[in-house]
Amino acid sequence: MQAFEQKLWLSSPTMHGEELKYMTEAYETNWMSTVGKNIDEIERLVAEKLGCGYAVALASGTSALHMAVRLAGVQTGEKVFCSDLTFDATVNPVKYEGGEAVFIDTEYDTWNMDPDALQKAFEIYPDVRVVVIAHLYGTPGKLDELKEICDEHNAIIIEDAAESLGATYKGKQTGTFGTYNCISFNGNKIITGSSGGMLLTDDKHAAEKVRKWSTQAREAAPWYQHEELGYNYRMSNVIAGVVRGQLPYLEDHIQKKKEIYRRYKEGFKDIPVTMNPYDEKNSEPNFWLSCLLIDKEAMCRQVRSETDSLYVKEKGKSCPTEILENLAKYNAEGRPVWKPMHLQPIYRMNPFVTKDGNGRAGTNAYIEGESKDVGADIFTRGLCLPSDNKMAVEGQDKVIALVRECFS
Ligand SMILES: *Cc1c(COP(=O)(O)O)cnc(C)c1O
Repeated sequence: MQAFEQKLWLSSPTMHGEELKYMTEAYETNWMSTVGKNIDEIERLVAEKLGCGYAVALASGTSALHMAVRLAGVQTGEKVFCSDLTFDATVNPVKYEGGEAVFIDTEYDTWNMDPDALQKAFEIYPDVRVVVIAHLYGTPGKLDELKEICDEHNAIIIEDAAESLGATYKGKQTGTFGTYNCISFNGNKIITGSSGGMLLTDDKHAAEKVRKWSTQAREAAPWYQHEELGYNYRMSNVIAGVVRGQLPYLEDHIQKKKEIYRRYKEGFKDIPVTMNPYDEKNSEPNFWLSCLLIDKEAMCRQVRSETDSLYVKEKGKSCPTEILENLAKYNAEGRPVWKPMHLQPIYRMNPFVTKDGNGRAGTNAYIEGESKDVGADIFTRGLCLPSDNKMAVEGQDKVIALVRECFS
């Protein structure tokens, strides 16, 4: 097999032309700042499309999450329940505000926060008021169950829909279930502004607060008057032009990603792997990244240190390390599944709750059979495949062949 001439990306920006038109418009009208028509338009369009009251355009998804954590009023030392199997941008804003993330284990059905583990966490920490929930790789979590538990305990939800823009749960868009929510327009997301993000809420007062905080928290006075801590978090009108050009293509991107997911599923149906699963009855993911999970019985030995990985090749078996190496050899980009937050050195002292209680008791339990740490298990056996919109069918066929080869 020949290596790909052009690198096959995990997920790269896909431009359509209108982006340049709106960026040029910003340039030619001299609205080259954090004010302008592109910003107004995307805020209006996103709020309308997703069905939320207000959308505030910010510099990144991370800054939107930070503003959400501030709105929730998280105090120094306060515990906040957070998704565990996710990108660290989901949880860092809790730390920015001095809060302490308590990581909630993952379920196998959608690879998102496990409602049973969340229930357990409320038994251990009944006073927690804020829960940060991410939708991994564009797949909605078990929102009904999670929301019911949060309501029961008077806790508010911050939804991290950075990866799931356009995905729906029971017909309703992710990013509209929490009190304060975030989306991202980072370069590798389903649509992009090259960077950027938004805070979404139905609370008018909250949206106004974020508009103020994100532009240095200036008071109504002739000079720069400050009563509150401010941030320089507003989106640029040039970036907003890119987002404005991309928005009409969201559905098109989702369709392409879905086809990619389906072709992988078909291509792998007779080898010992499964695709990242979703609730086919109640949810429609945006299929941002296609991932696979190797059956336990089909895992060859693989050991990971904090920074390196080794494996022992076995006939008929494989592991993420081998598959990723094989893809890289042919110039295709894959990626391990997010390493769970409770396994990250920066968060190693934070509590971690599984559905059986304290999950710190035994990690990597999957080796002995029954896993008590679902996030660690998915990290050990899972990987993300090239999921770029622009990948041709022949390219994808080759990726499928490269994966299959590892199980020969
Ligand atoms: C990308 C991402 C973010 C952060 O978005 P940025 O715009 O890159 O700051 C937050 N959470 C998750 C789960 C993400 O994937």
